[in-house]
Amino acid sequence: MAIYMDYQSATPVDPRIAQFASPYLTQGFGNPSSLHSVGLAARGAVEDARAMVATLIHAEDPGTIIFTAGATEANNIAIRGTAQRNFSKGKKVLASAIEHISVINPMKDLKKAGFDFATIPVDHEGIVNLSALEGMVTKETVLTSVMYANSEIGTVEPVKEVSDVVHSKGNYLHVDAVAAEGKLDIDVQRDGIDLLTLSSNDIYGPRGVGALYIKPGIRTQPVLVGGGQERGFRPGTEDLYAIAGMGEAAHLASNEMQSEQDRLRAMRDALIGVILKINDSRLTGSRDRRLPTQASFIFKGIEGESILLTMDAMFGIQVSTGSACSSKTLEPSHVLLAIGLKHEEAHGSMVLTLGKGNTLEQVPAVANAVKQTVDRLRALSPLYGK
Ligand code: PMP
Repeated sequence: MAIYMDYQSATPVDPRIAQFASPYLTQGFGNPSSLHSVGLAARGAVEDARAMVATLIHAEDPGTIIFTAGATEANNIAIRGTAQRNFSKGKKVLASAIEHISVINPMKDLKKAGFDFATIPVDHEGIVNLSALEGMVTKETVLTSVMYANSEIGTVEPVKEVSDVVHSKGNYLHVDAVAAEGKLDIDVQRDGIDLLTLSSNDIYGPRGVGALYIKPGIRTQPVLVGGGQERGFRPGTEDLYAIAGMGEAAHLASNEMQSEQDRLRAMRDALIGVILKINDSRLTGSRDRRLPTQASFIFKGIEGESILLTMDAMFGIQVSTGSACSSKTLEPSHVLLAIGLKHEEAHGSMVLTLGKGNTLEQVPAVANAVKQTVDRLRALSPLYGK
C-alpha cells in the first residue's frame, strides 16, 4: 500500500470541500459582479469564503482578504505592489535567506527598478538572526519578508520579534504563511503582520487559488491591471469554485487544526526518533521550533534524488528532497546552504511532510524503508565511507 508523505508539495482536495464547492461549477455559477439574483448568490459565496479565511488568521475583518490565483501571485502583489507603491519612502527590501523562490525572485526583480535587495541570515536551525535584522533594516526599507515557517526544514520563525524590529523603523512586514497555515494558530493582529500570503491547496482546498491579507491602512497596489474585482488588487472574474472551496478549507482548518496537529505531531516525533538511529543521519531545522507535520533529514554520502526514487519504486512511499521548485535542477537547496550545510551534505536531504492520510501505524514501515534505502544507496556510493 502506497504511503504519501509529501503533503507540502500537494494535498488532495478534502472530499467534504469538493462536495461543498462543486455546485458552484454547475448551478451557482453566476458572475459575482452581476447585479441579478444569480450574480448576487455568487457574490454571497465569495463573501462567505472571505469571512472564513479572515477567521482562520484572526484578521480584523473580511475586507482585509484578497483572493488571488495562488500563493505565488499573492507574494508578487505583496512584494512588488507594496515596494512600488511606497518607493517614495525608500528603495530597500529585505527577505530571509530561506524564503520560497516566489518571494526571492520578485525581490530580485525589483533591483531592475532600482531597489536594493538584501537577504537576512539565519542560524544553523534556520531561525532568522534578529540582531542582523536590526542592523540591516533602516527607514528606507519599505518591505521585509520573513516566512511563518519553512516547509523544507520545518523551522517556525519568531514572527512577533521580527515584527517588532521591522516596525521600530516604521516599515511593513510581509509573511508567507503557506507552510504554516492550518498547522499553527496564525493571528495577524497578535503577530504584528501587515501582509500575509495563504494558499488553498495547503489546507486541502482546490488549487489555483490563494489569498493575501492586507492590514487596514497598508498602502499597496495591484500587479495586474484590469477590472475592479477584489478591490482592484486582483482584477479578473473570480473563480467561484476555487474561492468557495478555499473558504470551506479555511473553515474546516479552523475547526480541526488542533486535534489533527496533535495527532501528526506524535507521528512526527516517532519518525524522528527511529530515523535518527540510522548512522550518519541528522535532523535539519529546529528540534523545538518545528512544524508538527514536518520531519527532515540529511544522510551522509548519498543523494536525495536517489532516496526519493528508491523510496517510491521499492517501497511505494512518496517523499521529497527539499524544495519542489528546485529539485529538478539538481542544485543544492538554498535553504540547506543558508543553514550552513556544505554542498555535499545538502545533497543528501530527505523531507517528510505529513497530512490527513498518515497514521502512527505507518511509522515502522516508513522507518524500515528509509533504513533499507539508505543502506542500499550507501553500499553503491563511491562517496560513503571513503
Ligand atoms: N510559498 C511557499 C512557502 C511555498 O511552499 C509555495 C509552494 N507551495 C509557494 C509560496 C507558492 O505556491 P504556489 O506554487 O501554489 O503559487
